[in-house]
Amino acid sequence: MTTLTNANLVLPDGVHDGSLRIEDGRIAAVSPASPPPGDDIVDLGGRHVVPGFVDIHVHGGAGASYQAGRDDEVRKGVAFHRAAGTTTTMASLVTGDRRDLADAVSRLADLAADGLIAGIHLEGPYLSPARCGAHDPDLLRPPDRDEFRRLVALGRGHVRMITLAPELPGALDLVRDAVDAGVIAAVGHTEAPGETARAAFEAGARVATHLFNAMRPLHHREGGPIAAALGDPRVTVELINDGVHVEPAVARLAFAAAGTARVALITDAMAAAGMGDGDYRLGVMDVEVRAGRATLAGGGSIAGSTITMADGFRRAVTHVGLPIEKAAEAASLTPARALGIDSRTGSLEPGKDADLLVLGPDLTVERVMKNGHWL
Ligand SMILES: [Zn+2]
Repeated sequence: MTTLTNANLVLPDGVHDGSLRIEDGRIAAVSPASPPPGDDIVDLGGRHVVPGFVDIHVHGGAGASYQAGRDDEVRKGVAFHRAAGTTTTMASLVTGDRRDLADAVSRLADLAADGLIAGIHLEGPYLSPARCGAHDPDLLRPPDRDEFRRLVALGRGHVRMITLAPELPGALDLVRDAVDAGVIAAVGHTEAPGETARAAFEAGARVATHLFNAMRPLHHREGGPIAAALGDPRVTVELINDGVHVEPAVARLAFAAAGTARVALITDAMAAAGMGDGDYRLGVMDVEVRAGRATLAGGGSIAGSTITMADGFRRAVTHVGLPIEKAAEAASLTPARALGIDSRTGSLEPGKDADLLVLGPDLTVERVMKNGHWL
């Protein structure tokens, strides 16, 4: 049993001086009257403690691709992000051919069963060629319900999300199939007008994939998927808060429109995260990273990010201007709720997993605890 004392606890309703008691990998109590005798006492010297981050959209890190890497490489990528505070992670797959996706899904399902990742996110292959971003346009295809069913079966319950463009033929049927299979449908990489995006949300889609990026932009006479997502209280919008994909003023607009309960910070990080400038792969596409900015080789679309959740969280405070408890909500509780795992993680509340971070004075991540164990 461990009690963390002299902490600044970042709780859903604000920051409070207090202590946390950890028992059997879970949070046993928040600010108990006094730690029971026999506990290990860790004095945090007034540091902030926030819930561990939940990244629902990430492709890799530390040189490793979750799509192409061997198991040990995937573990290395997950460990890199975990050290930066991501205690719960999805593994996102970009568009690939049938065989590539099937192989990646079966391999990652084993790692999800081991608890390394929280699930698999299929980002494609049913995306709009007009908004393909860093996805190989030659591999995009119309929604294929049989292929999707096979991927879900190969995933053995671990395919948890699919991003698709709702304007494609059969897309709304696929949204309904996803809902029936317990897979979160996400609207993204789309040229859809608002009406079509709203139809997808009516059909059960509940997430907008990296809002603003790779979708029809907001126009005042045709709000498109952005206005549709921000205007629907059932929908969580993902935001890549790296200052490259979305500038702070626009991030502020998203938070003002949807609140931190509906904006989930994501990294959309690729293998280059944590690696510095160089040449990398995202799926089958060549990507170059210069000054931390990832683009398709030869100039072109921005291609994923190189940030960690810690970077996005810190920028939400320093550049967007959110109070720390609101930034923590967007980085942890909101994505956990979108995934349906908020009874286990996402906030510092009794009964939840002891997934938490100790922050330094400049909001850097100093220590990471996952399931009650320090990394
Ligand atoms: Zn992505």
